[in-house]
Amino acid sequence: MTKSELNKYRNALEARHAEIMQLVRNRDGIAIERSSDALDEVQQATERELAIRNLDRDSNVLRKVRGALRRIAEGDFGVCLHCEEDISAKRLAAVPWAAFCIRCQEIADLSYGDSADNLDASWVNAA
Ligand SMILES: [Zn+2]
Repeated sequence: MTKSELNKYRNALEARHAEIMQLVRNRDGIAIERSSDALDEVQQATERELAIRNLDRDSNVLRKVRGALRRIAEGDFGVCLHCEEDISAKRLAAVPWAAFCIRCQEIADLSYGDSADNLDASWVNAA
């Protein structure tokens, strides 16, 4: 991978990182503001649940984005963490924080369905 390609991915990842941090900060602000309101309790619980779910999803992506930035720094970005083959440029363009090649990701999705993300995490931790 060329230096300029790597820079392109790093810029995309850093932009995504900033975007999620912004989202998380904004959401914290909203939560504090609303808790002092006399809102219906059921509605508050639903909103809280939604916020937690969004936060979960965002922190999941955030963790992957950080992992990818670390791999750029360490020089092994773009290599599948599982089979060590190169991850295709097309896949990286769509998902710059991808840690696995499409084949390994598909196997993970097939075997683990919705919890494939958890598998990602265990592979990352094992690496
Ligand atoms: Zn692979």
